[in-house]
Amino acid sequence: MVQKKEEFKDLRFECLRCGNCCVDKNTLVNVTYSDILRIKKSLNLKIEEILEILGFYIFDKSPSKEELGKMVIPPIETERGLAFTGLKKKPSGECYFYDDKGKKCLIYKIRPMFCRTFPFTFRIFFNKEIANKAKIRMQYTEKGIEYCPGICENAPLIDEDEWIKVGKIAIEEMSANNILIKQWNEASQKGKITPTARNFVLTILNLEKKDSNPD
Ligand code: SF4
Ligand code: SF4
Repeated sequence: MVQKKEEFKDLRFECLRCGNCCVDKNTLVNVTYSDILRIKKSLNLKIEEILEILGFYIFDKSPSKEELGKMVIPPIETERGLAFTGLKKKPSGECYFYDDKGKKCLIYKIRPMFCRTFPFTFRIFFNKEIANKAKIRMQYTEKGIEYCPGICENAPLIDEDEWIKVGKIAIEEMSANNILIKQWNEASQKGKITPTARNFVLTILNLEKKDSNPD
């Protein structure tokens, strides 16, 4: 009997480079501001070019509190409503950086954290008994279970320690990103900023300047 992926006792995975995660119409490619800065730096992009590779996807209807709580990256306030920020998708559903002919990612070495961690998701669990002891747990994402053929009974067991290292970086980048989004949304609600996509990217670029001029 074929075992269901979500029932595997130990995590198994090997990327088969099928590209499903890059072309799935219903998969939005999350980006954090760290991803945006990494891609910008590596490709030497100007602000207009950054806006060209990003998609600001407006929700059809406002997400509920419960839906918002499930999102790993919350939406940002824009002049058109709440928007999810990700890499732009082509009309066919492929990621902007997917090379359909070569069947590969054009920015593989600097791909967003979301792509690096797929098909896993990571969470921190705090142990109340032992102060300051936090543990990172990982599991397959719903999308991974849905369409990633690299998760299968015959795939090798993963090196959990190595993956946890990646997960730790992902959690740190996501936490910093979510703080930025919280500040942005609050500033927008108080009328302190004009919440355009361009201004959002400018805010991110200013973070880079602050990092390089810490004084
Ligand atoms: S769907 Fe899975 S196997 Fe296919 S490219 Fe993505 S991670 Fe690799
Ligand atoms: S950035 Fe690369 S790995 Fe990530 S979805 Fe796009 S093509 Fe795939």
